[in-house]
Amino acid sequence: MKMKLLTQIFLAFVLAVLFGLFIPGMEKVQPLGDLFLRLIKFVIVPLVFTTLVVGVASTGDVGKLSRMGGKTVAYYLVTTAIAITIGITAGFLFSPGKGLEIEMSEAAVEPSESEGVIQTLLNIIPTNPIQSLVEGNILQIIVFSLFVGIGITVMGEKSRTVYEFFDGFADVMYKITDWIMKIAPIGVFGLIAPIVAQYGADLLMPLIKIIIAVATAVIIHALVVYSTAVKTIGKLNPIAFFKGIMPATMVAFSTTSSSGTLPVTIKNTRENLGVSERVASFVLPLGATINMDGTAIYLGISTLFSAQLFGIELTFTQLLMIILTGTLASIGTAGVPGAGLIMLTMVLQSAGLPLEAIALVAGIDRILDMFRTAINVMGDASAAVVVASSEKEVVESGRHLPA
Ligand code: ASP
Repeated sequence: MKMKLLTQIFLAFVLAVLFGLFIPGMEKVQPLGDLFLRLIKFVIVPLVFTTLVVGVASTGDVGKLSRMGGKTVAYYLVTTAIAITIGITAGFLFSPGKGLEIEMSEAAVEPSESEGVIQTLLNIIPTNPIQSLVEGNILQIIVFSLFVGIGITVMGEKSRTVYEFFDGFADVMYKITDWIMKIAPIGVFGLIAPIVAQYGADLLMPLIKIIIAVATAVIIHALVVYSTAVKTIGKLNPIAFFKGIMPATMVAFSTTSSSGTLPVTIKNTRENLGVSERVASFVLPLGATINMDGTAIYLGISTLFSAQLFGIELTFTQLLMIILTGTLASIGTAGVPGAGLIMLTMVLQSAGLPLEAIALVAGIDRILDMFRTAINVMGDASAAVVVASSEKEVVESGRHLPA
């Protein structure tokens, strides 16, 4: 029976939840999840590198590139600031930390150390681009690809072979991504079933409010902010948007890594949302690295949770501080599992709040991470749609619902 991939993924998800709850020993299917995870991870670096070089080289116009970059970063900043505000509001409304009497677990989280703004910015420029590729440092790879792409444009005919090499290589990487997606349902099953088995209902109950708060806030953010943006600027029906990006969202939910989901995000935005290769190859890798709306929402809620736990009334200045550091922290968060939890220490510290709440949040972080990563990826895709439309980079023939 030939079922649509999206239906298969949903089915795998539902089965995974049921199996995880009722069949003992589901932890053992984890290798299936890991297999899928390793497969999509291995395409990331070559895919980002080759497609971005081709994307930039085919633009052939530095002015257009910097305009696209400006729009992308502006969209990312605005949506993130809205996200953290929604998070704080949800934290007030749900008050997940009020009346909670719970044993603190011993799990200590090291406070994060930040390097300072100037060093962080300098670090974007690779001293050895091959090393950036080896280490999978996406921001550095972006910078390197930009230079190579612009170089190809400026050299013209002389660099024809180099261009064709990257173009062909990029197509090969897209093809490999297609193959890997065929086993996505198995991967989703292998990732979700062990988590459900591990957490079970008992462990979640005391902290159910914070999970509901995060889930509700991310859904509201998607329904309000992304719907409006893709509809008004992106000229795309929001339902088509959500449906088109659903496979990537499900993969993000299961893997809790927006960087890991990148190949799927690129595939979905190009094939279902009609975003040109040029825009997708630039906006999405950048977004997977710096744009984390879900993480911002989570930071807002968890900070309020922490304050409520200790009965601290937040001042207006503290709230502003949370919005500011929360936005910066979400930019600094890597698109890998659990990164947001580390950033939480930074936000709590800067708002002068006790760090103990982290031990509590840490216990259920994996669950919260699923929701925030799903939204992180959806946010990147919405930016791609918006930028593509405003730059006249929409490929109409590429706008159709997932097969
Ligand atoms: N896991 C998230 C992501 O990859 C980052 C986070 O932990 O907030 O997008």
